Amino acid sequence: MNFEHFFRSELDGLHAEGRYRVFADLERQRGQFPKARRHTADGVKDVTVWCSNDYLGMGQHPKVIDAMKQAIDHCGAGAGGTRNISGTTHYHVLLEQELADLHGKESALLFTSGYVSNWAALGTLCSRIPGIIVFSDAGNHASMIEGIRHAKCERVIFKHNSVADLEAKLAAADPAAPKLVAFESVYSMDGDIAPIKEICDVAERYGAMTYLDEVHAVGMYGPRGGGIAEREGLMHRLTVIEGTLGKAFGVMGGYIAASAALCDYIRSFASGFIFTTALPPALAAGALASIRHLKESQVERFAHQERVRRLRSLLDRNGIPHMPNPSHIVPVIVGDAAKCKWISDLLLDNCNIYVQPINYPTVPKKTERLRITPTPLHSDGDIDHLVGALHQLWSRCALARAVA
Ligand code: PMP
Repeated sequence: MNFEHFFRSELDGLHAEGRYRVFADLERQRGQFPKARRHTADGVKDVTVWCSNDYLGMGQHPKVIDAMKQAIDHCGAGAGGTRNISGTTHYHVLLEQELADLHGKESALLFTSGYVSNWAALGTLCSRIPGIIVFSDAGNHASMIEGIRHAKCERVIFKHNSVADLEAKLAAADPAAPKLVAFESVYSMDGDIAPIKEICDVAERYGAMTYLDEVHAVGMYGPRGGGIAEREGLMHRLTVIEGTLGKAFGVMGGYIAASAALCDYIRSFASGFIFTTALPPALAAGALASIRHLKESQVERFAHQERVRRLRSLLDRNGIPHMPNPSHIVPVIVGDAAKCKWISDLLLDNCNIYVQPINYPTVPKKTERLRITPTPLHSDGDIDHLVGALHQLWSRCALARAVA
């Protein structure tokens, strides 16, 4: 086989479908977020970033940066080993305690990313519990799907956010089989929110464990940033809450929070936890500072929601169609991969606005979109500039407008 030829032809396929991913080469400058400098063949240009998952700008927060710097000064750069073999520092221990407290659970366990936490935790539970059946929401993230697939257990996909379909599928399954229901709170691409209470009610009736991914909610919802389950007083109903340190907390890493026995079990059997170098202590220190700050402060959460409302109302006034949802994610639907990329390129090259196009397979075909994520640090001027640019491009591209 000519491997080079094979790789090229596969990539050509992505190009032909308008799905080839191109990274923007960004240089962030401290204190400037959401502004950044973009390196291009023609030189360096200033841009405003509108697609960051650093939803609250905590990656730039002085408390987080100072905590990371101090940790580096105190104990150096890397963890130097797996958690089991010399890689556990006091920062890791404190961070796990803080996360357990955040979610009202006995214990928490860190992983090197949210992806790894889903893959490792679900993969371990679903491969080791004999005869387990997993009920997985059709909209679940790739990391959950991969973890479940890897386990090779019986899996049943229920219709996205459909309690009735979940119930029908639970009812049809072997009553004696152990069961787990895996779902998310805020779904990242449509920004819709799961009926957590109803899912817990149904799961409980059938004796199923519940596994909730709160990656797009932790830090941003709930009085202490514990996520949608905290906001709705449901944390105690969930067997496992999974989250990331890489989005609203502004750093990197993932975790699960659950009972002491469950966390100990994953710690003891998950290869994705055991056989990899621990997070650098400075990341753990930064995450700790971020979580502690957001447990106390409502300022970022309130400002964030206000920015989201302002953007949505300006989009409405200008007839730019965006998906209504109860979260902070603002999906502006283009409905065509090539046009979506074209608009994103024009925004970047002509208006210095950076919004990555989201195309299939991340979202279904004909729902290609710009996924816009306002932060508390976007100014009125930034919002006006974005909406003005979209308004012009919508006309140029002859795209359908919402009834304003
Ligand atoms: N779960 C969901 C729902 C996600 O959207 C993502 C990342 N986008 C992850 C898990 C993975 O989290 P991380 O980026 O920390 O690996």
